[in-house]
Amino acid sequence: MAIINKNFRTLAAGYLFPEIARRAKAYQEAHAGIALHRLGIGNTTEALPPAILEGLHAQVTRLGSGETYTGYGDEQGNTELRDALVEYYKSLKVTLRADEFFVSDGAKADAANIQSLFDPSSIVAIQDPAYPVYVDSNVVAGRSGQFNTNKGHYENFVYLPGTEENNFFPDPPQEKVDLIYLCSPNNPTGAVATHQQLQAFVDYAIKHKAVIIFDAAYAEYISDSNLPRTIYEIPGARQCAIELNSFSKFAGFTGVRLGWTIVPHELMAEEALPGELHKMWFRRQCTFFNGASNIAQAGGVAALSETGLAQSRAIIAYYMENARIIREGLRSVGLSVFGGDNAPYLWVKTPHGLSSWDFFDQLLHQCQVIATPGSGFGPTGEHYIRVSAFGHRENIERAVASIKNNLVVEALS
Ligand SMILES: *Cc1c(COP(=O)(O)O)cnc(C)c1O
Repeated sequence: MAIINKNFRTLAAGYLFPEIARRAKAYQEAHAGIALHRLGIGNTTEALPPAILEGLHAQVTRLGSGETYTGYGDEQGNTELRDALVEYYKSLKVTLRADEFFVSDGAKADAANIQSLFDPSSIVAIQDPAYPVYVDSNVVAGRSGQFNTNKGHYENFVYLPGTEENNFFPDPPQEKVDLIYLCSPNNPTGAVATHQQLQAFVDYAIKHKAVIIFDAAYAEYISDSNLPRTIYEIPGARQCAIELNSFSKFAGFTGVRLGWTIVPHELMAEEALPGELHKMWFRRQCTFFNGASNIAQAGGVAALSETGLAQSRAIIAYYMENARIIREGLRSVGLSVFGGDNAPYLWVKTPHGLSSWDFFDQLLHQCQVIATPGSGFGPTGEHYIRVSAFGHRENIERAVASIKNNLVVEALS
């Protein structure tokens, strides 16, 4: 008799994006011919630059000849790409070994799978609001209690709220936890942790033998050279942190699929032997994964070349100019806007304490603009909406113009 994993029943309904689509469709059906402006996209929109295309094409060509054809590669990634990643981290003044990089087909699956290295009884702390995979993977693994609909959170998880008071990056927990999920620059708030803030988490993790899972998918969007782009800039992080990263937002690989995870040899946890966690992830990848596409990996090597980096950074600058246009436009109508300076997301406070969904409806009905309700990213996201800077410039400009012309934000009383 097969019995289902009942933890799936504990998952709260995945209602954010389907509900956005439902409300948008209902509006369009009632208002035929009126176009909607999308500022909710968490997806890249601009074409791949020439240096990356060249890398992808060259690998396709190699696959077409008997002399240069290759089948399966190493599960942990091609040597050339891992060496290129070592060089990329050197440019961030961080020294890592090539075998500490595990190339994958994207950071989301690694973010979901990494928890399997740890005991089912581990206490999980999560930055709130957050990218939903950290929470959901630990719910399915049985580490949560029930979802509390009144509070909008799971019992037994420790939520670390990012609020206006702490610039949307939390302090380490008061209590003892085992696994800590952090994302900086953050999706959805756009907030970036300082060295000092990350040092506090590293100190906490070493003191309590906790492990930090650090998602750096938006690191290339940081323009302020004082902000850390990798957790390994923080002394002690090699002992207590795993870093997840991806070519998706870095180089437009959302559809190509390529990422990497760093598990340092020194990483430690309670009862682990020296080097054991690194060996465990290697073991896991060798039997549960068969490597990322060799075409995608050739594209990754090209993306990390001098020309590839320059061309990808020009596209990032384009999205960040979108972010600037959105920030200025929304501020000009009196909205409080955070983020968007070192990340492609802006975190906008709803006026008059409206709920996230009520303000979503107001933007839809008055301005025909679709944003993403902050409450969909965790309880602390209530009373905010996420606005994304991904999109073609003319669409961003149209959306901002519509907000400026049509949004009625009554004067604060
Ligand atoms: C988009 C995104 C990723 C990237 O996931 P891939 O599977 O590599 O496409 C990872 N983390 C966060 C927070 C993201 O927003």
